[in-house]
Amino acid sequence: MSIVVHKYGGTSVGTPEKIKNVAARIKKVRDLGNQVVVIVSAMGHTTDELIALMQKITPEPDPREYDMLISTGEQVSASLLAMALQSINCPAISLTGGQAGVQTEDIYRKARITHVHLERLQKELKTGKVVVITGFQGIDSKGDIITIGRGGSDTSAVAIAAALKADVCEIYTDVDGVYTTDPRIVKEARKLSFITYEEMLELASLGAQVLHLRAVECASIYGITIHLRSSEKEDQGTFIEEAKKMEKKEAVRGIALDENIAKIGVLKVPDKPGIAAKIFTALANEKINVDMIVQSIHSSGSLADMAFSVERPDLKQAVEVAKKVAKELKAENVVADDDVAKVSLVGIGMVSQPGTAAKMFETLSNEKINIQMIATSEIKISCVVKREAGKKAVQILHKAFGLDKVS
Ligand code: ASP
Ligand code: MG
Repeated sequence: MSIVVHKYGGTSVGTPEKIKNVAARIKKVRDLGNQVVVIVSAMGHTTDELIALMQKITPEPDPREYDMLISTGEQVSASLLAMALQSINCPAISLTGGQAGVQTEDIYRKARITHVHLERLQKELKTGKVVVITGFQGIDSKGDIITIGRGGSDTSAVAIAAALKADVCEIYTDVDGVYTTDPRIVKEARKLSFITYEEMLELASLGAQVLHLRAVECASIYGITIHLRSSEKEDQGTFIEEAKKMEKKEAVRGIALDENIAKIGVLKVPDKPGIAAKIFTALANEKINVDMIVQSIHSSGSLADMAFSVERPDLKQAVEVAKKVAKELKAENVVADDDVAKVSLVGIGMVSQPGTAAKMFETLSNEKINIQMIATSEIKISCVVKREAGKKAVQILHKAFGLDKVS
């Protein structure tokens, strides 16, 4: 008998009809002789609605009560799904995160899961029941309900799958997999049948919002394969797993566009030790995330320009911080530009295939797209370009790297 873990996102359980469809799918899996554990998100936009409701009472709730409130959405979908299963003669029980043994840190609103105590879960599975568990929540050492950060149900599912030593965690959602790029930008975008954890983490943090990042992190630590797939179709989706299981290693597997960035330049700073530390410590103290950093030297030799990118909503604050530090450092000027976008190529095959960066730059230059900043890692190359050129850049790169032909 094998253990099967499914997770259904908010849209997949968004209506009574959809809940019934999910129940039918689960019953089939159980009837094949599997033990089935299901993790659910709240129906549709329930969590947002709960927050809107809360804001009519107070904009600054006590964190404990906040968790009490926003964890309720999952309780609705879990109990309804258990009822839907029971009504088609599939024995089932719903459990809250706490009842299912999901232990978290003692931090309201954004705790990490520390352990899953399996006793209750295994007891219910032994009686042949499908166990439906509320995602997004657990309990802390005091026994209080704790939530684990917006979108956290994916992480709940992977943590539970890891505790149960399941091979695969199937995450059902409203997209049918991970694509080479956003299909709204490139209509030839292809669904990938496999992608590595590392690539997925890069793509997810680059704005491909299909999966909760911590779920991918957790899966990679425990070696759980995630199968991301559509709850509306039977087709296979995308397997997110270890690199060694994969056969193909194209240099580039995916392209991401981030239009949520802005660029700041601190110009003509005296070029001496400690300057970069000063600027970036000041930004870090304000909890401003800096992504790309470029330093260039003036011909005079004693001055440098420092440019970096931040998330667009942080721009105003980042400029204020930069101006303050610039004054102390006797830099000439601070300039800001939010008319930019970041285009990134991602692929673990880049490590072994030289020339990827050169090909990217050439492809962009052939279209007269100017590159303003460049950053690279072992599996990623990012370029900042003018905002209006972002989509075009993705389209031509997608073609140049043959992503319209991959599988
Ligand atoms: N319902 C929670 C949220 O909307 C958790 C989740 O859907 O994963 O953030
Ligand atoms: Mg989600």
